[in-house]
Amino acid sequence: MTITDLASLVEQARAGRVRAVARLISLVEDDGPELRSLSAELAPLTGRARVLGLTGPPGVGKSTSTSMLVSAFRARDLRVGVLAIDPSSPFSGGALLGDRIRMHDHTVDAGVFIRSMATRGALGGLATATPQAVRVLDAAGFDVVLVETVGVGQSEMDVVALADTTVVLLAPGMGDGIQAAKAGILEVADVFVVNKADRDGVDQTVRDLRHALSLGRRELGPSWRQPIVRTVATTGEGADELLAALDGHHEWLVAQGELEARRVRRASREIEAIAVASLRARLGGVRGGEVLSGLAKQVAAGETDPYTAADQLTKGF
Ligand code: GDP
Repeated sequence: MTITDLASLVEQARAGRVRAVARLISLVEDDGPELRSLSAELAPLTGRARVLGLTGPPGVGKSTSTSMLVSAFRARDLRVGVLAIDPSSPFSGGALLGDRIRMHDHTVDAGVFIRSMATRGALGGLATATPQAVRVLDAAGFDVVLVETVGVGQSEMDVVALADTTVVLLAPGMGDGIQAAKAGILEVADVFVVNKADRDGVDQTVRDLRHALSLGRRELGPSWRQPIVRTVATTGEGADELLAALDGHHEWLVAQGELEARRVRRASREIEAIAVASLRARLGGVRGGEVLSGLAKQVAAGETDPYTAADQLTKGF
């Protein structure tokens, strides 16, 4: 694909052509040679979208809540892009979409773009692909980009690194919810949602969460108190409150200069992930492989040490 083709695709994406957006995201997923030119093309067009991360254990209501939020933002006439990420199953793109019946409400709406992300074995995996996909949506003029991830270990951290505002979902009756929360989710949440508020035990879940929060320390400073919003995602109850909490956090970010700080941190992670992936790719290349195996023989024979060898290996890059 030539630079002119890329520029024209970006142009079409900005004009609201969904297929152009989808093709650009496929380019990102495929991690092909066009990605550099594309990235350069997108850069001056980015920085406008609000990036929201949504994470939580499986079954808590993430896709239903995403759908609810999409409706709420659409009611404000904002364009919304959704990236659904399931890091535990890189090949499940299709299956994941099949589950998202409620999302079908939005499929005919040109102001909404929904995509499940698969890694397809890209070197940097989702750590590099997801931020680039966010850039595509941002450049394409989506006002809000919602990144939804299953909360399993590292993945919610990746979402946090990506988002301006991170929403963590819990639900009553998920005994391990708060347990999982204790394992690190507490610190990363900017806004908590206790979904399935139509179920028994919602008050207890909120109390448990408050208690856990009161025990935890937060590094971001005391001036933001993480709100806890109750929702019934299936009916849309609590959507206004959630939107208000998200707006509140956004205003706080701007007022504190924290929005800029988070975006700089995000960019620095992006650069690092790309650099590491590209280093790994070169090491895996023919020449890199030869140099590496030569050095490995020397280290195994005791002729040199692994640190010196690593320095020698990376010196050429
Ligand atoms: P995800 O795995 O976190 O994306 O969860 P889903 O959005 O797929 O929801 C899992 C199940 O919970 C589905 O059957 C939803 O219909 C249901 N669900 C989602 N939100 C609510 C809610 O607020 N109340 C009730 N009772 N069920 C809900």
